Amino acid sequence: MASGDVEVAVIGGGAAGVAAARRLAEAGVAARIVEARARLGGRAWTIEAGGYAIDLGCGWLHSAERNPWTKIAAAQGRTIDRAPPPWARATVQPGMTVQQSGELRDALWELHERADALPDDAPDRPLADLLEPAGRWNAALDAISGYYSGAALARVSARDLGRYAEDGVNWRIVEGYGATIAAHGAGLDVALDSVVTRIDHGGRRIRVETTRGAFAADAAIVTLPSAIIAADERLFAPALPDKTRAAAGLPLGHDDKLFLSLAGAEQFDPDTRVFGKLDTAATAAYQFRPLGRPMIECYFGGALAAELEAAGEAAFFAFARDELAGLYGGDFARRIAPLALHGWGADRFARGAYSYALPGRADDRAILAAPVDGRLFFAGEACSRADFSTAHGAYLTGIAAAEQAIKALRG
Ligand SMILES: Cc1cc2nc3c(=O)[nH]c(=O)nc-3n(C[C@H](O)[C@H](O)[C@H](O)COP(=O)(O)OP(=O)(O)OC[C@H]3O[C@@H](n4cnc5c(N)ncnc54)[C@H](O)[C@@H]3O)c2cc1C
Repeated sequence: MASGDVEVAVIGGGAAGVAAARRLAEAGVAARIVEARARLGGRAWTIEAGGYAIDLGCGWLHSAERNPWTKIAAAQGRTIDRAPPPWARATVQPGMTVQQSGELRDALWELHERADALPDDAPDRPLADLLEPAGRWNAALDAISGYYSGAALARVSARDLGRYAEDGVNWRIVEGYGATIAAHGAGLDVALDSVVTRIDHGGRRIRVETTRGAFAADAAIVTLPSAIIAADERLFAPALPDKTRAAAGLPLGHDDKLFLSLAGAEQFDPDTRVFGKLDTAATAAYQFRPLGRPMIECYFGGALAAELEAAGEAAFFAFARDELAGLYGGDFARRIAPLALHGWGADRFARGAYSYALPGRADDRAILAAPVDGRLFFAGEACSRADFSTAHGAYLTGIAAAEQAIKALRG
């Protein structure tokens, strides 16, 4: 492990930690990323499968025109794919008419409009309360909530979702979002395979205890996933009950991707999507030929993803095979084979996919993000008011925390 004391300890080397440490290095501040995994990137993770770079974590440059990773990827010489995402294309759902598909899109739009319109002084509510009573598309909307929040509508704060800044511009990095974020950390002082067990801020300097030894720092930027902060009251000494409680109000939802190889892929248009079923939340979304590749990207969300993780990896494939056979006939099973999967809920350094706010807890994002004693700073996607759940939200909070640390250290 890189050793010796530093000015700023950056706890966690995902999008937020890498952004913060790079900004600190640019300002001439001695900073070290302490990362539990053997790689940088965290929930951004590109691997090679079927001869392609695929993202098991973040894949979409949401709000792509203002997303700082777009510029960084371009500067790294990567290819930005600007083709529209599947959810912005015409439907190819077997058994669903274009009109019905339009109805579903409208129902989703109206639900979000109702969340956006919630006055700031009105009590918060679960998103499920804003559904049309007995609405025809309610089950499908619950499934979609599983994809973008990782949880059912009944568990998600309407106020929080209303604050999300949706720009409707979504691009991809052909060589991988995760690869881009990890490469942005190249050359920084990084201690990998180092699990932080305690952040002792009781003394004159901050003492960071890790599974590979301890070191001191003048300040620390904590970028750990909210689920990890919530799970360990002893992470901070002295304890920071406000942080633990705020983190608990921002759990990480369940979302997992399974990539399948697909024989005879030309039958499908690139980047088209279908849902396994339309009358239940327990269904996956299937994106055919992502970036034109001979694959299917299967997206599992909410309780279904949690249940399949508990049942083991084979359960994901069996579920997808059965749903696809239901749509395209029993023979379809012969055309697909599993390529890659990662269970983010069981991942001990993530404990889920991305944060949502429980009803009544939208303001926990600001509580989690607030500095402590002018030397303990917080970043990570869960700290973002309007870009939460995303890699660019993580980046922006990392930069904000780095600026706060620079100001505290340099005046
Ligand atoms: C399946 C899936 C799909 C997604 N799709 C998108 C998408 O299309 N677009 C998008 O913008 N976002 C997407 N996201 C969300 C995005 O990946 C995250 O919001 C973002 O990467 C979070 O960055 P972060 O720095 O806040 O947290 P992390 O990336 O989780 O970084 C925290 C780091 O802390 C480390 N750590 C944990 N515990 C310890 C410890 N005790 N000691 C030291 N280090 C520790 C972790 O290993 C990790 O590297 C997706 C995520 C998933 C899982």
